[in-house]
Amino acid sequence: MESRKLSGLVVRDAVLEDLARRVETTGRRPGLAVILVGDDPASAVYVKSKGRACEKLGFHHVTHHLPADTPEDEVLRLVAELNAASNIHGILVQIPLPGHMDEARVQAAVSPDKDVDGFHPVSLGRLLAGRPGFVPCTPLGIVELLRHHGVALAGREVAVVGRSVIVGRPLAMLLSLKADPGNATVTLCHSATRDLPAVTRRADVVVAAMGVPGALGREHVAEGAVVVDVGINRVEDPSTKKGYRLVGDVAPEALAGWASAYTPVPGGVGPMTIAMLMRNTWDAMERLEPSR
Ligand code: NDP
Repeated sequence: MESRKLSGLVVRDAVLEDLARRVETTGRRPGLAVILVGDDPASAVYVKSKGRACEKLGFHHVTHHLPADTPEDEVLRLVAELNAASNIHGILVQIPLPGHMDEARVQAAVSPDKDVDGFHPVSLGRLLAGRPGFVPCTPLGIVELLRHHGVALAGREVAVVGRSVIVGRPLAMLLSLKADPGNATVTLCHSATRDLPAVTRRADVVVAAMGVPGALGREHVAEGAVVVDVGINRVEDPSTKKGYRLVGDVAPEALAGWASAYTPVPGGVGPMTIAMLMRNTWDAMERLEPSR
């Protein structure tokens, strides 16, 4: 079977070009504030790339990098200041936070109007209720990627494997909304799912968001199904310069030559997340300042 590769890079570029054009034509500049506490190397990389994306688009951005032993009260005070700042439209608290902090409390302190990450309970509640609000960036990016590549969802069976609050659960909610894109029949699978291959083989679209390299094989995917591989896993590979390479949650045997279409790793879902963060930041500005 010939399999179509669903590139996230071209969709990311299209989204970012559209935003850059909006900045140019309107002269408006959304502002994003990022709070980074401690020195987690992966977090530092993510924060840097978010700043770079803002710079490229002409968004205003500021990163507050605080030491790992910063008291939670101080972070909460900073969040309150940013909630009130008129040049900041989106606030993102980079997780994980150091162990002495209550992550849920800090995230809930962000104003839902500036919650561009979409993790605030109010944002998740709005998603559940099908009301306008911020949707977490990775699930939003998956839906945008499928829409861009013309993968139909309405009336089709989608199996989402992985129920995290960052990816699987909000994605299942988004796909099942009575909306376009949406209207899918969704099954949300997890580690307690009995006979996972039987469930996922029924699906027209299989989404793997487990964080386990190559966990889904051909026995999990019907021939001709669409596969969305969200996994980003490092596996050792001495033949590479870095000593590792990135692989997804789906084994190669279930992708090219088996699926009708699939998202590659890297270059599939990954690039979509930052693009959606930028779009959410633009939307936050438009909602906060609609009359300008
Ligand atoms: P979590 O570890 O939070 O969740 C993993 C989920 O997968 C859990 O619900 C778990 O089930 C389920 N799971 C694990 N093993 C199995 C199994 N053998 N069978 C069925 N279900 C299983 O991961 P995240 O959602 O945060 O991330 C998932 C992957 O997506 C990671 O590789 C991560 O790097 C990647 N990711 C990529 C992003 C991007 O592209 N921008 C953004 C976010 C994540 P249970 O709940 O029962 O434990």
